[in-house]
Amino acid sequence: MNLLKLTASLFLFMWVTTPAAYSDTGDVKGGKQPANVDDKRLLAAAGDGANWLSYGRTYDEQRFSPLTAISDKNVGRLGLQWSADLDTARGQEATPIVVDGVLYVSTAWSMVKAFDAATGEPIWSYDPQVPREKLVEVCCDAVNRGVAVYKGKVFVGTLAGHVVALDAATGKVAWDIQSIPEGSHMAITGAPRIVKGKVLIGAAGSEYFTRGYLAAFDTETGKEVWRFYTVPGDPSQPFEGKHLEAAAKTWSGEYWKFGGGGTVWDSITYDPETDLVYFGTANAEPWNPGIRNSAAGDNLYTASIVAIRPDTGEYVWHYQETPEDRWDFDSNQQIIAANLKIAGQERRVVMHAPKNGFFYVLDARTGKFISGTAFATVNWATGLDPASGRPLVNPEARYEITGKPFTSFPGAYGAHTWHPMSYSPDTGLVYIPTNEAAATYTDPAKEWTPGKVGMQLGVDFNAGAMPADTGIRESWLKKTTGALLAWDPVTRSARWAVQHAGPANGGTLSTAGNLVFQGTAGGEFRAYAADTGKQLWSFAAQTGVVAGPVTYSVNGKQYVAVLAGWGTLWDLYTGILSTKSGRVPNVSRLLVFALDGKDQLPPPPPHSLAVLDPPPVAGDPGEIADGALSFHYNCSGCHGDAAIAGVLVPDLRHSAVLNSPQLWQQIVHDGILKERGMVAWSANMTPAQIENIRLYVIKRANEDRALELGQAKDH
Ligand code: CA
Repeated sequence: MNLLKLTASLFLFMWVTTPAAYSDTGDVKGGKQPANVDDKRLLAAAGDGANWLSYGRTYDEQRFSPLTAISDKNVGRLGLQWSADLDTARGQEATPIVVDGVLYVSTAWSMVKAFDAATGEPIWSYDPQVPREKLVEVCCDAVNRGVAVYKGKVFVGTLAGHVVALDAATGKVAWDIQSIPEGSHMAITGAPRIVKGKVLIGAAGSEYFTRGYLAAFDTETGKEVWRFYTVPGDPSQPFEGKHLEAAAKTWSGEYWKFGGGGTVWDSITYDPETDLVYFGTANAEPWNPGIRNSAAGDNLYTASIVAIRPDTGEYVWHYQETPEDRWDFDSNQQIIAANLKIAGQERRVVMHAPKNGFFYVLDARTGKFISGTAFATVNWATGLDPASGRPLVNPEARYEITGKPFTSFPGAYGAHTWHPMSYSPDTGLVYIPTNEAAATYTDPAKEWTPGKVGMQLGVDFNAGAMPADTGIRESWLKKTTGALLAWDPVTRSARWAVQHAGPANGGTLSTAGNLVFQGTAGGEFRAYAADTGKQLWSFAAQTGVVAGPVTYSVNGKQYVAVLAGWGTLWDLYTGILSTKSGRVPNVSRLLVFALDGKDQLPPPPPHSLAVLDPPPVAGDPGEIADGALSFHYNCSGCHGDAAIAGVLVPDLRHSAVLNSPQLWQQIVHDGILKERGMVAWSANMTPAQIENIRLYVIKRANEDRALELGQAKDH
């Protein structure tokens, strides 16, 4: 039995779409002196509308601005004030930070840039020169979601797992440490969080046999202060805390050999009112619980919110949203702290809209469940226990027990993922970028063993993929959409919703000017009335906008900024589904708007509709069928379901290399394009299998060419 055929190794086999563009470090222009951000300023950020001092603007991550110069009355006059093209063409996910007229932003490949926030004049740029082959060693594109600024330094986590402190005035490296375990498949894509002189950051990688943690480093020296593990390690070693001794009782078998998962790849929220840090944890691994455990168990603290003390990393409480996860329901999404009046009582709460499709309100001091309500289509659970919030799991959703495929809403992409939501205290609404996106999970054959390269999910997705043509895919393709949802966390219902064509739309910003800003995957940046959802303004961004917008002011003038640049997981792994969100090119660019702004974007890139022109079909049906399976398990994660790729990686149906079996082997087997992210697959596939993949892609290209020419009805 070919092990690879049993390993659903997604997200592999990809090229970088642009050559590496290295910019110089430490070249200071403009002469702006970044002022110090200290604890006092961070604690007072809510009243400081001019600045956007940390990832979610304020410690409570509300992404709400008190600025009103741009409002629902005049937003129609909003125009482009300045823009800056970026030197990378991967997905752009970062939220800029603005301090005293200087805008700091990270880009794909963990690069950091500083601009004059009013004029767009570049001040400095920094490139950690992440090795390009990292693309296939870690999960989910070369993205980065943001920096932190504190006491004259800018902090960034890199795809290679380093935490780097830069001089905020010059971009020169102050310190640089490796924070992930040596040789691991972990990567940092999230924004660091500064709390009381420490920089807090975790790492992604719960699809690669890793052990999740959140770590704190001294902001001055980079010295590690504490490391909080989210899952128990090898039980023959001492537990690193009482909380892990308790957690170990919820695992069985030789779980530690798989790492455990529970990585901390996104939200880290500090709440000064409770002096707690809340963070979300990822799925347990492998995804399939029948493989990672010998008996049923909750697998703490995966798919949970955990609260700890920032000074010591000491455990305080946890709330597990998806016990014994089997669907990749990470709970890493942004955690908002707020005061809500619930049943006549003022409560300090945390609010959360994780991948699993339920909106949670928890007591911020104790983690006690207050409410949980489905905010998207949910069929993996019939509801939540009203007292505990524990999901009532649909027995059919336990695919490892039934042995049958289960199509889950939401799927692994999630009803909501990292795209930041915002909360307006004015309207009392949470503005959530939501997704309707299913996945079909099947238990793999019993001989399942980890592969050598790529993800270790222990799930077979073939039933929901195109080549299998089982009809399962067709059953949920039409339901795949996205929305901007204005959610009332007290009445537990949507006040209004705006439908989008597909999933993976932008993060949101809400303002006291009764506005909500959001980009779309289809290439617009929009403003809506926060109270009614009426669309008031739109800008053609030439590319998908997935990041969270910010607003700030310089010398009394208000600006709105957002990073544009289509990419992300949705484009990479969904193949033909990615076209549901709009087939836009990647144009990586920082866009900054102001009232009566008159700047113009350069003309959009030519929209080439490449004509398929493949060599004639070759090989026998057996070889082509073998190639289809090999493609599905090894290549489709990046090059698309049925060889129809998104926009970030080459669509192999168009590849000239289809004409050359020799060159095909040199690329796929030998890895001659390693520097562009396409590593060698010699450890996973034989030359014969690699040749069969070529024959399969040629057949697919011919099928679609026939479709283009109107000579066939289906494929
Ligand atoms: Ca995950």
